[in-house]
Amino acid sequence: MHVTIVGAGVVGLALAHELTLRGTAVRLVDMRGRGLGATQASAGMLAPYIEGQHPDLLDLGVRGIGRYDEFIARLRTVTPAPVEYRRCGTLQVATDAAEFAVLDALARRFAGERVPHSLLGASEVRRADPSLSHEVCGALLLPQHGYVSVPDLVAALAAAVEMRGGVVVRDTVLALEPTGAGVRVVTTDSRWVSDAAVVATGSWSGAPLGPVPGVPVRPIRGQLLHLRATPDLLRHVTWGNGCYLVPWADGSLLLGATVEDVGFDERATVAGVRMLLERGQAILPALDGAELAAVRVGLRPATPDELPIVGPVPGLPGVFRATGHYRSGVLLAPLTAHVLATLMCDGHGSVHDDGLALMAGSRFPAVQKP
Ligand SMILES: Cc1cc2nc3c(=O)[nH]c(=O)nc-3n(C[C@H](O)[C@H](O)[C@H](O)COP(=O)(O)OP(=O)(O)OC[C@H]3O[C@@H](n4cnc5c(N)ncnc54)[C@H](O)[C@@H]3O)c2cc1C
Repeated sequence: MHVTIVGAGVVGLALAHELTLRGTAVRLVDMRGRGLGATQASAGMLAPYIEGQHPDLLDLGVRGIGRYDEFIARLRTVTPAPVEYRRCGTLQVATDAAEFAVLDALARRFAGERVPHSLLGASEVRRADPSLSHEVCGALLLPQHGYVSVPDLVAALAAAVEMRGGVVVRDTVLALEPTGAGVRVVTTDSRWVSDAAVVATGSWSGAPLGPVPGVPVRPIRGQLLHLRATPDLLRHVTWGNGCYLVPWADGSLLLGATVEDVGFDERATVAGVRMLLERGQAILPALDGAELAAVRVGLRPATPDELPIVGPVPGLPGVFRATGHYRSGVLLAPLTAHVLATLMCDGHGSVHDDGLALMAGSRFPAVQKP
């Protein structure tokens, strides 16, 4: 089988990796190059119990993180490219009694659901992460959570795909046309026929590709700061005061993120950077001495219900979608890749209890119109 994947973000790359592992020939096509859409701005957090703000998203997120150990282990068997991946836990911090009451209620809920957690008082927080502000009066520790370095992940996935014969090309796909015997891919520079094609175009999924209709996905801008501090300044991924901090082993700290409904505007703004620095410094005063290495901006692909769209495009044989992952594309990429590759290689009947029904595009009537 030969598959064309439109979009080489984390979703397209993870799918390409999964398909090549199953012996499928893959061509990834991206108008910018690999990993240069929303993916390059991602914090790489794997934190479903914080991000899962409604039950279906929590369900998918828990399935998603459940696949990560195996996903990374399999990637490491294909390529020696290093991938920083740590399940170091998240600390959700409180700075006043009202915030602590919210964490206390969450802790009770997690106790009922048997989700491992610890509710920490002020002195325990100080022991867990000594650099946090003295304003922090408590925290909820979720030890299963963690992060993956997205630049590492993108490089390793691309290397793994290429080592198994896949190709990544820079080009813009204009149309995907089912021919009866396959799908004709029409790009700015070329055209070819594949057995199947997948639209993994993130925030650009609202645009039709010839007969393939757009889907209700809109871009939500996120600005994130890449800071450099001393290694071990922070031990946990830390949430609080309207921001989060992700500590990498080399001393990098990712400080994110804004959530802005401003269309296809990928500019970094003074207001966004100032807000993040103020919020971050309030919980980690030592940020003052950090280097501001980069400002990253990405467009999160958001659907109306904030769940992804994964599966076949109705009425267009051989055409599939994997898009709309909004704030959880890194967390959900291995799950998406597994579900869609199974569907494409083995057929519908072989996909059991993997959240596919939650991600079906048919929940949006417009998706079905050619
Ligand atoms: C600031 C920020 C922080 C985030 N933090 C996290 C986090 O901690 N954890 C998490 O799980 N998620 C996080 N996310 C969300 C995550 O980054 C996205 O959900 C994910 O990157 C989406 O991946 P994608 O492959 O669908 O889209 P993209 O990475 O945007 O890739 C889509 C690609 O399609 C290409 N393309 C579009 N149209 C065409 C065409 N016609 N022809 C060829 N190529 C085309 C584009 O060039 C692009 O490269 C964050 C996002 C942002 C912005």
